[in-house]
Amino acid sequence: MTANLLDFDLDGLAVFCERLGEKRFRATQLFRWIHQKGASQFDEMSDLAKSLREKLKTSAQIQPLGIITQHISSDGTIKWLFDVGGGDAVEAVFIPEDDRGTLCISSQAGCAVGCRFCSTGHQGFSRNLTAGEIIAQLWFAEHFLRKHLNSSERVISNVVMMGMGEPLQNYAALVQALRVMLDDHAYGLSRRRVTVSTSGVVPMMDRLGQDCQVALAVSLHAPNDALRDNLVPLNRKYPIAELLDACKRYLAFAPRDFITFEYCMLDGVNDTAQHAAELVKLVRQDPTLGAWCKFNLIPFNPFPASGLTRSAQPVVLAFAKILSDAGIVTTIRKTRGDDIDAACGQLAGDVKDRTAVQKRISKQRTVMLKPVAEIAPSGRGGL
Ligand code: SF4
Repeated sequence: MTANLLDFDLDGLAVFCERLGEKRFRATQLFRWIHQKGASQFDEMSDLAKSLREKLKTSAQIQPLGIITQHISSDGTIKWLFDVGGGDAVEAVFIPEDDRGTLCISSQAGCAVGCRFCSTGHQGFSRNLTAGEIIAQLWFAEHFLRKHLNSSERVISNVVMMGMGEPLQNYAALVQALRVMLDDHAYGLSRRRVTVSTSGVVPMMDRLGQDCQVALAVSLHAPNDALRDNLVPLNRKYPIAELLDACKRYLAFAPRDFITFEYCMLDGVNDTAQHAAELVKLVRQDPTLGAWCKFNLIPFNPFPASGLTRSAQPVVLAFAKILSDAGIVTTIRKTRGDDIDAACGQLAGDVKDRTAVQKRISKQRTVMLKPVAEIAPSGRGGL
């Protein structure tokens, strides 16, 4: 069986090269060809000895994901549906903005957490992605965009693990992929520009703090356990007090960083003034957390099975004001890619229909990315 080189971080690739009788610097060259130049064929790698290229051809491959569909929104957002085999598919979304390009990627096919407001959660869990399948989404998107924008510069400046799946329930593959994202010989992203979003897998938050201090976003969505138990079932295992303690411990690993609390605004469920006041009290209980957290209010994207509806904009604004007046940095996420169902919580819509989707490689269209004004101030973890 040939190894998929997208599965390796640089250390792993060095071990692989040593097994082929090659020195570590060869691994660095190979790593750069793959991730910085987007090479998928060993014959492209002109500064590698021919003998090494021949060895690689028989022992390794660079395995991309098949593209089932590609949709480009009128606002420049692009959504890809990738085939990960076995009838499973995952999605990635590119969101261009004035000052950055953000790629939202998936960590699992489906998700076991089952949040009420999330389309992926309603689909159920199929399997974890490998590190190679996680990084393949970035590898494809970065080099596709560079080619179509005719750019030799990096296009994707931020990565958010907010696609399908709970990243911290696929920990080993996640951390392996994060190492590739942060490596200067690969994508060279700063740790503050890579965000892991979690529904609150407390023990893994602690491990992430020790292993890889990227930006952390926490899906809170409710100010008390009774409501959060209902919206985010994982809360029954790790209730809010434990979750906030884990956030505080994470801040100790990543001083001067913010924790972003994501809060999906659900009409009549979690969006009243009383809920906002409860939230203020909750995060202000601890001075450190109170000072180093921010809120990102997310418009809900309705889907029929949820039985939920989106909060009206005046309600969202009033809610945001209560938080802001209490001194908490609060942003309202602008919905993006509405016309292609690329918004938060809509991923996986196509997957249920995957048998009906004719598997095809989309014709890659020329992408015109236009700057889009933001409604709310931008912040880490906010698309
Ligand atoms: S919101 Fe995240 S954790 Fe919850 S079901 Fe959806 S993908 Fe899973």
